[in-house]
Amino acid sequence: MQIISIPITTWALLTQATPILVAATLFMFFMYKCLGVVATYHRILCHRVGKMNPLVQIICTALGFYGSLLSPVTWAGVHIDHHKYVDTDKDPHSATHLGWRGWFSILWKDSVDLRVMARLKRDSISNFFHEYYYSLLTLPLLLLFWPKIFLFFWFIPASMSLWSQHVSVYNHDETGAKEMPWWFGVLTMGEHHHKWHHDHPNDTSGEGWIHYITKALTYADSR
Ligand SMILES: [Zn+2]
Repeated sequence: MQIISIPITTWALLTQATPILVAATLFMFFMYKCLGVVATYHRILCHRVGKMNPLVQIICTALGFYGSLLSPVTWAGVHIDHHKYVDTDKDPHSATHLGWRGWFSILWKDSVDLRVMARLKRDSISNFFHEYYYSLLTLPLLLLFWPKIFLFFWFIPASMSLWSQHVSVYNHDETGAKEMPWWFGVLTMGEHHHKWHHDHPNDTSGEGWIHYITKALTYADSR
């Protein structure tokens, strides 16, 4: 999907787009990547920075699911191994070891943490998205009955979210996790305070605006 998104997005922007549809795409990119992947999958479900109301969790997990094409269980399994083996050859997506292959998760190291996966499988909402992964993955195809909705509300912003996730891999160098400039935070929807994140994976207080978004989605600490 990442590769085919380039010609399809170019064609759609040149021939189908209106200012409102472009604004809708950018808004949905924020919803899928920031609320879904960065805040919900990464900070709240994987690193347990807070508890969510069940309805908020269902909506935000769906955003993460359709913005990453992974269940929260699988996403967290890979991500915890990134923290555990960071910047070694066992890191699933070490930028220094993978080079250009970091841009494509299909070329990442096959490595998951079974403990975090077991924890999230005990959470009924996360487990639902894991157990019904393939059925849920087909749902966006229903939007093909409304091609512009399919393109500008899912396909293009979800593709942007996938590329954005892979940009996030490159906030490391040979010295480890890096603090990145503000524009990297815009591209990755909040993954720019990466050194802070690796030093304090369960505390978002040093992560700028993503801290406030994460707090807005949660009502209490989860520990
Ligand atoms: Zn993390």
